Amino acid sequence: MQSRYSMNQKNKKPFLKWILISLGIVVVLAGGVSAYWMSLHNWDIEESLEALSPSEAAVETVEPKEDVSSQEGEAPMPEEPQSPIESEKPAEPESAEKPETPPAEDPPASEEGKAPEQEETPPAKEQPVKDATIYQDNLKLPAQPTIINNVVIANKQHPLPQSYAPGESKEARAAFEAMRAEALKAKIDLTAFSTYRDFARQKVLYDGYVAKDGQQAADRYSARPGYSEHQTGLAFDIGETGQEQHWASATFGDTKGGKWLMDNAHRYGFILRYPEGAEKITGYMHESWHYRYVGKEMAADVYAKGVTLEEYLGIY
Ligand SMILES: [Zn+2]
Repeated sequence: MQSRYSMNQKNKKPFLKWILISLGIVVVLAGGVSAYWMSLHNWDIEESLEALSPSEAAVETVEPKEDVSSQEGEAPMPEEPQSPIESEKPAEPESAEKPETPPAEDPPASEEGKAPEQEETPPAKEQPVKDATIYQDNLKLPAQPTIINNVVIANKQHPLPQSYAPGESKEARAAFEAMRAEALKAKIDLTAFSTYRDFARQKVLYDGYVAKDGQQAADRYSARPGYSEHQTGLAFDIGETGQEQHWASATFGDTKGGKWLMDNAHRYGFILRYPEGAEKITGYMHESWHYRYVGKEMAADVYAKGVTLEEYLGIY
């Protein structure tokens, strides 16, 4: 029993020793914390004591933190006093507006999604309205003619080289003579009063029309040099002998010869090149007298489909 008691007495001594050591550590730590606190306040005791007051200390210390938190978007300090919270309230509506902003941006975004559709539609509509009567700016005469499906193209969008001078097509001339022979049976004396014209000849003609009617009017019925289909040697201006008053005139289409050509020219390889109502496609007003040789097969196809050469070749 004694031994047990003495054992307890012996054990108490180290226990007290540890209590004293712990107290010493607490004192040292408290002193260190106090010293650190005073060091934060310029070693001034009053300032350090005032800093312990929650209301005033928070105002001083939190305000700079608020700027940082508002800039960095950090969560507000939990123990912040009322004044910083009130000053932060303006920031809360800002963050609240942010969710509102995307919905406000959504309608414009959807409108932007619709806008391209509306913008894409006009170009699609403008394509058929493409005006082939207008010469392209700065379009120079090419070194080679445009040939599609073995057809030499000559219009305001596809000019010919200035040096392109094939002369009148013998094949086209032969086809015309055969056609003329048949028309004579119906007492229609066809004549081709203008066929091949080279660049220089077209220039003289065009310049004369411009001087007479002005360029805007001349561009409707005459081609600028390099742009005339007559330079291909495959275009035939057709009239009737003895009916010169209808030559190169809209009235030719109402004559017996003009109507006969409309119904039969395709059988000889000729197509009415500038039909009525196709000025925006062909580039020229209706010319009842201007026929273009393309060969019997193609002429019959173009006639059956009732399209222009541009549409038939897919260049409009
Ligand atoms: Zn012509």
